[in-house]
Amino acid sequence: MKFRNFKMVDYVVYGNGSFDQLDEILAPKRNGDAPMIFFVDEYFQDKKEFLSRVPLRGKDKIVIIDVTDEPKTKTVDKIRDELQAEFGQVSGIIGIGGGSVMDMAKAVSLMMTNPGSSADYQGWDLVKVAGVYKVGIPTISGTGAEVSRTCVLTGPTRKLGMNSDFTPFDQIVLDPSLTSTVEPNQRFYTAMDCFIHCVESLEGTYLNAFSKSYGEKAQELCEEIFLQKDQWDDDADEKLMMASYAGGMSIAYSQVGVAHAVSYGLAYLLGTKHGIGNCIVFDKLEEFYPEGVEKFKQMVKKHNITIPQGICKNLTDEQFDIMINVSLGMAPLWENALGKDWKTIMTPERLRKLYERL
Ligand code: NAD
Ligand code: ZN
Repeated sequence: MKFRNFKMVDYVVYGNGSFDQLDEILAPKRNGDAPMIFFVDEYFQDKKEFLSRVPLRGKDKIVIIDVTDEPKTKTVDKIRDELQAEFGQVSGIIGIGGGSVMDMAKAVSLMMTNPGSSADYQGWDLVKVAGVYKVGIPTISGTGAEVSRTCVLTGPTRKLGMNSDFTPFDQIVLDPSLTSTVEPNQRFYTAMDCFIHCVESLEGTYLNAFSKSYGEKAQELCEEIFLQKDQWDDDADEKLMMASYAGGMSIAYSQVGVAHAVSYGLAYLLGTKHGIGNCIVFDKLEEFYPEGVEKFKQMVKKHNITIPQGICKNLTDEQFDIMINVSLGMAPLWENALGKDWKTIMTPERLRKLYERL
């Protein structure tokens, strides 16, 4: 198909306190006594008041998700196997957390109905069967995972998402009040994922009016929150949640660019997390995104954020080559950033120099 036929999330609830409507939302989606499984970010494991708001019924279960590492295919497969052994069928999977937990929920939902290992489905349109009903509930804003058609997984040979029309959530619940406890540095790193999505989409060759409308709005919201406001408040949480949504919509109909392509290499080799990894790379991309990088540096300064430096300084040639291969394997990202001739522009030698500066 020449024009992308973009599969979207089916239902969206927005508003402070909307989380408490979850029981009503789930009721019609329950199949007999097959349980709903709630994947909850480990941050909430000892937050009794929050856990008491999770609408458990019958055999429903809360599974606390360890987010020390970003989701791995082997963890997805393990959780799927355990759920199938314990329950056979489930009515749905609800992911409550950041990009890591939402991606885990998407992946396990798909793997409840698709045979084999999630590693077999890393790529584009390899998933052939709809997963079980799935709901995404962000508790930290920025990744856009709530609206995207992918769930990023680290597998045996690569870090790549399960991109498919079956991947988007059936329902999302956008309740900004759930994000109020995020620690400021983490909030910044994940928010910058959104800001970088916007810059990469708006400066990319794939840009169109659809992506531009969402990208401009999301970027404007990020700048308002991080450059104009002097104090973090509820309004900032509300706006950042909508920036994340709009930033995700923007890249859904275009693509990300240099920062993401380079940071995927860091993530694969060093396990650098997505938000902070994008910041480490974007900080050095003034030649590709001069205005965006300048604004980014202003935000870093205003919020007293430390961007790690020198993270590649002790790496071997072999390790650089691994990162370069992972990164140059992300062809659509480079093509969006640099155009059809990207291979002549971003040579392995030039990329090596860039990695050496990080
Ligand atoms: P995360 O999910 O790893 O969470 C970051 C930290 O914030 C964790 O320590 C978590 O416990 C904590 N946290 C979450 N909610 C909190 C709250 N309300 N209060 C206090 N602490 C809280 O981080 P992230 O940046 O949201 O997500 C990164 C992941 O998202 C990566 O795995 C990346 O690959 C993925 N990602 C996916 C997409 C997509 O389209 N599917 C897009 C971008 C990134
Ligand atoms: Zn991102």
